[in-house]
Amino acid sequence: MSDCDDCLFCRIIAGEIPSGKVYEDETTYAFNDINPKAKVHVLVVPKKHYANVAELAAGDPARLAHMVEVAQGIADDAFHGDYRLVFNTGADAGQTVFHVHAHVMTGETLDE
Ligand code: 5GP
Ligand code: ZN
Repeated sequence: MSDCDDCLFCRIIAGEIPSGKVYEDETTYAFNDINPKAKVHVLVVPKKHYANVAELAAGDPARLAHMVEVAQGIADDAFHGDYRLVFNTGADAGQTVFHVHAHVMTGETLDE
C-alpha cells in the first residue's frame, strides 16, 4: 500500500511503476536511477514516506542508518566498498522527488 498516491517513489515501491530493483527488504527498497550520473547509480529509499532526509532523521534514525548499510552493501558488491552518498534536500538543492532517497554513486572512480 502506498503512503501517498501522488508520490512517484511510493508508486515504484508498490510495484505500480516498473523499476530496476537492486535490493529490497521489509523497510527499504533500492533501484537504478533512470538517468545515471555514475556507472552504478542506485536510489535507496525507505518504504515509508518521508519527504526528506531531515524528516527521516528526526522520525526514524534507525531507518536512516539502515539505508546507509544498504548503500554500503551495494558499493561492496559494485566497487570495493567506495561510494558517494547524496541526499538532495529541498528544491533549491536539486530535490525533484519529495520522498527521501539516497543517491548511491559507485562502480567507478568518481570526479570531485
Ligand atoms: P532528486 O533530484 O530528487 O535528488 O533525485 C530524483 C532522481 O530520481 C533523479 O536522479 C532521477 O533521475 C530519478 N528518477 C526520476 N524519475 C524516475 C523514475 O521514474 N524511475 C527511476 N528509476 N528514477 C527516476
Ligand atoms: Zn512516497
